[in-house]
Amino acid sequence: MATWEDYIRSQEDVDGVRFTWNVWPHSRLDAQRLVVPVAAFFTPLKERPADQPQQPPLEYDPVLCSKQNCKAVLNALCFVDYRAKAWVCIMCNQRNTFPPHYSAISEENRPPELYPQFTTIEYTLKKATTMPPIFVFVVDTCMAADELKALKESIQTALSLLPANALVGLITYGRMVQLHELSTNGISRSYVFK
Ligand SMILES: [Zn+2]
Repeated sequence: MATWEDYIRSQEDVDGVRFTWNVWPHSRLDAQRLVVPVAAFFTPLKERPADQPQQPPLEYDPVLCSKQNCKAVLNALCFVDYRAKAWVCIMCNQRNTFPPHYSAISEENRPPELYPQFTTIEYTLKKATTMPPIFVFVVDTCMAADELKALKESIQTALSLLPANALVGLITYGRMVQLHELSTNGISRSYVFK
């Protein structure tokens, strides 16, 4: 890999993830000094480049960290103790034991989520969800008035095509970010953030 930039770009290509920063702040103070907070854009169902190993479909639920307020997902960056059938959470350092159906794993027989080339894994969840589908519209309002009008019309068309039980959210951003509270009579309240 030629440069750090090339490396970042190739990772973005593989993972469909782009961060505002590619270095984690070391302290709370460092984090507060960031002009732009750490954030990530993620492209679900991104197709990997053809020359990259393709992730097999994972038709099972991810293994989660057992710490109540963590619940991070087992991944290739976690330390795994294959002999003790345990793994250490990369986010909170909690030591977790593998669930019983992982008892056959070994260094040579790993589940796909522990292969270093699969830094992003997509799961098809098996547990039925009882939640209705949720759609959040995120709208950049910094545009010409006629474009904004056209965008409004497109959003209205999109809304008419959603399932009747869908939950809908709206975030707009220009100079400020506004999180809108929607009700049957339109926007009842908005929360404004810098
Ligand atoms: Zn954890």
